[in-house]
Amino acid sequence: MRRIPIAGPWITQREIDYVTDAVTHSWYDSANLYHERFERAFSQYVCVPHSMALPSCTSGIHLALTALGVADGDEVIVPEVTWIATAAPVSYVGAIPVFVDVDPTTWCISPESLEAAITPRTKAVITVDLYGNMADYDRILAIANKYNLRVIEDAAEAAGARYKGKNAGSFGDVAVFSFHGSKTLTTGEGGMLVTHDRALFDRANFLRDHGRVPGDFRFENSEVAFKYKMSSMQAALGLAQTERLDELIEKKRETFAWYRERLSGIPCLTLNDPGLDVDATYWMTSIVWNESFGLGKKDVSDALARHGIDTRPFFSPLSSLGAYQHLSGIEACRARNPVSYRLRDCGINLPSSLGLQEEEVDFVCEHLRRIFSKCL
Ligand SMILES: *Cc1c(COP(=O)(O)O)cnc(C)c1O
Repeated sequence: MRRIPIAGPWITQREIDYVTDAVTHSWYDSANLYHERFERAFSQYVCVPHSMALPSCTSGIHLALTALGVADGDEVIVPEVTWIATAAPVSYVGAIPVFVDVDPTTWCISPESLEAAITPRTKAVITVDLYGNMADYDRILAIANKYNLRVIEDAAEAAGARYKGKNAGSFGDVAVFSFHGSKTLTTGEGGMLVTHDRALFDRANFLRDHGRVPGDFRFENSEVAFKYKMSSMQAALGLAQTERLDELIEKKRETFAWYRERLSGIPCLTLNDPGLDVDATYWMTSIVWNESFGLGKKDVSDALARHGIDTRPFFSPLSSLGAYQHLSGIEACRARNPVSYRLRDCGINLPSSLGLQEEEVDFVCEHLRRIFSKCL
């Protein structure tokens, strides 16, 4: 049986040529040439002046929190519906994650829920541009301003997306991207921190190399810090992918349009909805259905898996995970964040690989029509 994967990259001769060149030549004095080109190209793409290539997005969030001075006992607000990588670094720095609800339409952080969760201990908020969609930044930044919160934009899934014409990654004090193998732009594993703030950038750059400034060879470290660097082979791959990012995004949008055309006739299904202000990039085409339909996400995934179709469950609310049951007051999240809990069992991501063919989308949608035939 053929298998239709959930995600996968689009690698061309350009990527192979750059990586081959990097592995052959980028050592010693030339070790950073591809990083510089990749960071410059990425900065240009997202229109943010300072970019730092990293081993992952998770390390980027850790660095961002540390560079912003978030520490022991501070509260950091995080939306419920995201990969745990958004929230885990909050614990690394000794701060407390506070989970808030998402908007029922965009599935991104709800401004009302954010404002309601702010306390005198709240230091920062991490917004998430979920599945290539974007949050309502006008309202979120206004709230952050009003309460003097730092903003970290987790744009891991949203390279190239735009809110009111401005790029994902240009909101807040600092933003981070992921280049994990499943992401639209990939370096295998990798990430990028971007910011308009030169001082913050310099601080992060110091922290990511065991507390030394670039070019230092005295080895007299003044602080205990981290080691978060990317290899030049990955940077070369990232450069090639950045040069092709428009093409990669075009493919994601085409995939979404294929699904939308075929699924819009099923009234109980809702697809990604970016709203008027957002040019989304559809990292994962996703569907949610009404609870009253009576099937859970596992039922639907299993039914598709029997035909070789890979899916992923919609993210469960972070406050429902075993990882966070030790937090005091965690039980209250369920009542406070009803949208995230309503989405919990009624949504999946559909195959969204960059190699996906239109016939494969036909095949997936035939099976979805069968599964959801009751509401046709
Ligand atoms: C993939 C992802 C991350 C983590 O990225 P890594 O590069 O694996 O650390 C963080 N946040 C979101 C929303 C993601 O989708």
